[in-house]
Amino acid sequence: MELLIAPALDHYIQEHTRPRPALFDELRDVTYASTSAPQMQVGRVEGTFLKMLVGLMGARRVLEIGTFTGYSSLSMAEALPDDGELITCDIDPETTKIARAFWDRAPWGKKISLRLGDARATLRTLPANEPFDLAFIDADKSGYLDYYEAILPLLRKGGLIVADNTLWSGKVLDPQTEDDHAIVRFNAHVNRDPRVENVLLSVRDGMMLARKL
Ligand code: SAH
Ligand code: CA
Repeated sequence: MELLIAPALDHYIQEHTRPRPALFDELRDVTYASTSAPQMQVGRVEGTFLKMLVGLMGARRVLEIGTFTGYSSLSMAEALPDDGELITCDIDPETTKIARAFWDRAPWGKKISLRLGDARATLRTLPANEPFDLAFIDADKSGYLDYYEAILPLLRKGGLIVADNTLWSGKVLDPQTEDDHAIVRFNAHVNRDPRVENVLLSVRDGMMLARKL
C-alpha cells in the first residue's frame, strides 16, 4: 500500500491521534515480525476511527469481513457494550491464531467471535432476524461487490457499511489489474445505489462509508 499523502503529514496524523493501549502496539509488532503482508493491518488511525464509528452509532452488533491478525476487530470491539458482539470472518487459520491470542488478552476480546472459512459461505449462514449496526469489509478485493450485496439485507435501517482500501493506493484513477477494476466497479456501484447514502474518505488507503436508508 502506498501512502496517499506526504509521509511527514501521515506521521503528524499518527502523532495527533490518541495512542491505544499497549496491546495494540504489541499486536502491530508481532504482525510485522511474523506475517508476509503486515501493511494490511489498519493501524492506529483507522483503527481508532473504526472504534469511534462503533461508539458514535451505539452499535451492538458488528460484522467484519477480513480478520487477519485481529487489529481492526480488537479496535471495534472495544467500543461495544458488554452484551455486544462482533462476528469476524477469515479463511486463514494461521493469522487468525495470532488474532485469537491477542483477543484473549483484552477484557473486551470476549465479544469477538471468529468464523473461519470463505466469507461468502459464512454470510449465507447469518440470520436476517439478527441485524447488524455496522459492517467492515476488508477481505479479497474481488469479493467486495458480493460481500456488499450479501450484507446490505443483514443491516438495520440507518446501519453503516465501511469498505476499506477503496482508493487502492490511487490506482482507481488508472485501473490495470483485476483487483484494481474490482475496486473501481465497487465504488461506482455504491455511488449509484439508491438504497444507501455514501461518502468516500481519504483516510489511510480510502474508506467508503455507505449508510442504509
Ligand atoms: N482487517 C484486518 C486486515 C484484513 S487483510 C486488519 O486490520 O488487521 C485481508 C484478510 O482477508 C486476510 O487475512 C485474508 O485471509 C482474508 N480473506 C481473503 N479472502 C477471503 C475470503 N474469501 N473469505 C474470508 N476472508 C478472506
Ligand atoms: Ca485493509
